[in-house]
Amino acid sequence: MPHPEAHADFVTDSPEHTQQFGIRLGQLIRPGDVICLSGELGAGKTTLATGIGLGWGAAEPATSPTFVFVNEYSRADGERLYHVDAYRLRDSADADSIALPDLLDDSKGAIMIEWAERVRAVLPPEWLWIELQWEDDRTRRVRVSARGERHVELLAAAREA
Ligand code: ADP
Ligand code: MG
Repeated sequence: MPHPEAHADFVTDSPEHTQQFGIRLGQLIRPGDVICLSGELGAGKTTLATGIGLGWGAAEPATSPTFVFVNEYSRADGERLYHVDAYRLRDSADADSIALPDLLDDSKGAIMIEWAERVRAVLPPEWLWIELQWEDDRTRRVRVSARGERHVELLAAAREA
């Protein structure tokens, strides 16, 4: 069965604007959602992830997990949000070493993955893929692609909000 798809493009003109979009999206996230973040260093992936964590309701602000590879946030209702940075991972064997497949299987967990293209082989077929592109000091082009019914719905809801 084909996976339905949807796309959206927009421009953000400040880190605050990027974070605000993250907050809106984070408020809508449910267990099983997979948020892939890509773009060069400094594009704004962690800035966006921080907003997503805030909107989701993480008790502490999401910081870059560059050195630990994965941060885990939890909420009083028992749901979890994982924040993975795949920058230093080279292949899917490395992805196994941080138990990425287990994180993706957590029925109470959603996940956001920076540098998701590096672990493409272990990603499920459905996700929300957010690509950030540096335009100038304060401006970033954002391309959002949704694959699968749930993520298409998530994107539509985020646009409405
Ligand atoms: P990445 O995780 O992609 O390496 P970060 O989010 O850590 O990127 O860093 C992005 C940097 O760019 C931050 O210093 C942020 O303040 C700055 N910035 C400037 N404009 C924007 C914008 N519109 N959106 C996101 N970040 C921005
Ligand atoms: Mg980062």
